[in-house]
Amino acid sequence: MLNGYINYLKFLDEKLEKFFKSQKPFIFCKKGCARCCKNAQFPYSVTEMKYLLSGLLTLDKDTLSVIEKNLENVLGQKNLFKGKKFRYDCPFLIDNQCSVYQYRGVVCRTFGLMTKYENDKLRAPFCTFQGLNYSNVLNLKKRTISPVKYKKLNVTEEPLGFNVSYKYLTDEDFEKAFCFKFGEKKPLIEWFIPSAASDKGSLKKRKSAQI
Ligand code: SF4
Ligand code: SF4
Repeated sequence: MLNGYINYLKFLDEKLEKFFKSQKPFIFCKKGCARCCKNAQFPYSVTEMKYLLSGLLTLDKDTLSVIEKNLENVLGQKNLFKGKKFRYDCPFLIDNQCSVYQYRGVVCRTFGLMTKYENDKLRAPFCTFQGLNYSNVLNLKKRTISPVKYKKLNVTEEPLGFNVSYKYLTDEDFEKAFCFKFGEKKPLIEWFIPSAASDKGSLKKRKSAQI
């Protein structure tokens, strides 16, 4: 089952690489900038989670201990599950780097691009409003492309939005095309609620990806 998903990820990565390349003048992502891995929900399907957990097999004991501690910290946050929009730092983030980078989910791969929805509405990444991606070309008040800023950049690339919403990228058309199912989707941390797991939350046991 993971083979279909892995093939899909190859397809997705190729597309995203082209998208990021075409947006180079407006992208400020760099190693160590991990704001997109913090204070969010991170939707994950069961298949994405299984693949992410398979990545744990490649990690050493110390790294696993840090992840386990991070998970405990997030799960121990008061009121974590009381509000619909609970937010947390991703437990797989260590020293501002993703410890399971190759195995990260769909949403993580699209961080930083501008999204274009089916109704043609554009949504800039949240970090635009922190002076990062697209902040050099968007009018932050009107949330539209600023002709003045764009002209100043003197580049040939156009700032564009892409159909990279999580809903679209995990649509059943992709499941059919690549012969797999995403399965149930929920915020990443919910896959680690101890009562929902038969092994009472042991990360070591979860390395076998029995979720
Ligand atoms: S899995 Fe990796 S890329 Fe995704 S939110 Fe967590 S640390 Fe960031
Ligand atoms: S998407 Fe934004 S927050 Fe994330 S690494 Fe890129 S610049 Fe930083």
